[in-house]
Amino acid sequence: MSTTIPSSDNKLHKAREVFQGQATRALVAALEVCARCGLCAETCHYHVADPKVEHTPAYRGEVLRRFYRRWHDPLGRLFPKWVGAAALTEADLQKLVHVAFETCSLCRRCALNCPMGIDTAELVRSLRAMLTATGYAPEILEQLADAAIQREESIEFFKESYLEQIGGLEKELQARTGDPQARISVAKDGAEILCVALSGAHTILPAAEIFHEAGANWTLSLYEASNYGVFLSDLARARAIAGRIVNEARRLGVKELVITECGHAYATFRWSVPDWFGPLPFRVRSILEVVADYLKEGRLKVDPRANPEPVTYHDSCNLARNGGVVEEPRFILKRVVQDFREMTPHGYENYCCGGGGGLVANLDAMEVRLKAGWPKAQQIQATGARKVAVACDNCRLQIGDLSEHYGLGVEATGVCDLVCNALVKN
Ligand code: SF4
Ligand code: SF4
Repeated sequence: MSTTIPSSDNKLHKAREVFQGQATRALVAALEVCARCGLCAETCHYHVADPKVEHTPAYRGEVLRRFYRRWHDPLGRLFPKWVGAAALTEADLQKLVHVAFETCSLCRRCALNCPMGIDTAELVRSLRAMLTATGYAPEILEQLADAAIQREESIEFFKESYLEQIGGLEKELQARTGDPQARISVAKDGAEILCVALSGAHTILPAAEIFHEAGANWTLSLYEASNYGVFLSDLARARAIAGRIVNEARRLGVKELVITECGHAYATFRWSVPDWFGPLPFRVRSILEVVADYLKEGRLKVDPRANPEPVTYHDSCNLARNGGVVEEPRFILKRVVQDFREMTPHGYENYCCGGGGGLVANLDAMEVRLKAGWPKAQQIQATGARKVAVACDNCRLQIGDLSEHYGLGVEATGVCDLVCNALVKN
């Protein structure tokens, strides 16, 4: 399903066509109304870490605005220098990779603080779409998106080895719970909950233990929650990757789709998937929302003495600012750890850790990613916490890297891991 890369002559035409396909009224308004007030500069972690004009959200918007004026403003066509318009060139496309894929994590902190309501992340998404369609997107993001689609195309081949892997995890679950009857079913008919995890035991086992203890009727998806089509701003691939899970949930007739600790997967399923596929016949929630309810309902018994060290919480931008999941992780953590400490700022105003938007997967962006994580490293250090609870895998990897890079001496851990530590078994 790789994008067919247009020939050199067609690339500029293709980029313009992609932009026009995305030019909603909101996007055009964002291109028209920037007051150049500069208020957004301090909201962006790239600028806080390394104060350069190129690291301001307004600069990123201006990059796209130059081409927009040339394409759509009569003055921009006749007197481009007067209005800051410029024709897009192939050299521009190459340079834009750094702007769109390496120095913006799509965190939307700037959007929250812009007096004109400009959502720079949407402008950057548009740049990403243009670059992906013309063959300039980071290869690793393309490969990861294509691998997910290929899994669906060859599902019978993958299913066998996946079930074998889950069989191994089931034994671990039985050891963790002390219950030889504990099960991890995959795509089971009759389940009420379809849990969509990430690859590897670290998101599957804690979820399985929690569902087991709560006595939930659940099953595990055959597919992973992550969606690299979203990071590429490639609508066709993003829909294909999400569509596998929507079809699976419909086929099984589940009442609820529960997304593991993954920020972009949650935001994609909450906000984009209903736009792409119409109203869904099941509810979508983050596992944090589900665990908070289990605690409120008394379905999980916990003892915070199992987590005595100071713990802080990093709000994933996609869960908090873009998803509204702010109270639930705090409700959970205050019950499962003894010493919970907030970062400043936190919640909707949290600083991005620098790992979102596909940056963690992109080794070319490593240096700038670690530098952009400096504000988050400072925030973590100021709390004095020894553990950072993180409900997103990309953030978790980034905070682990930040701890090593800045010598923070903290451990990044999942919220569900802390819940499992604190479980008092029935
Ligand atoms: S805060 Fe908004 S209006 Fe002001 S420069 Fe930034 S993007 Fe433009
Ligand atoms: S979305 Fe986040 S990373 Fe991108 S410009 Fe805005 S504040 Fe910076």
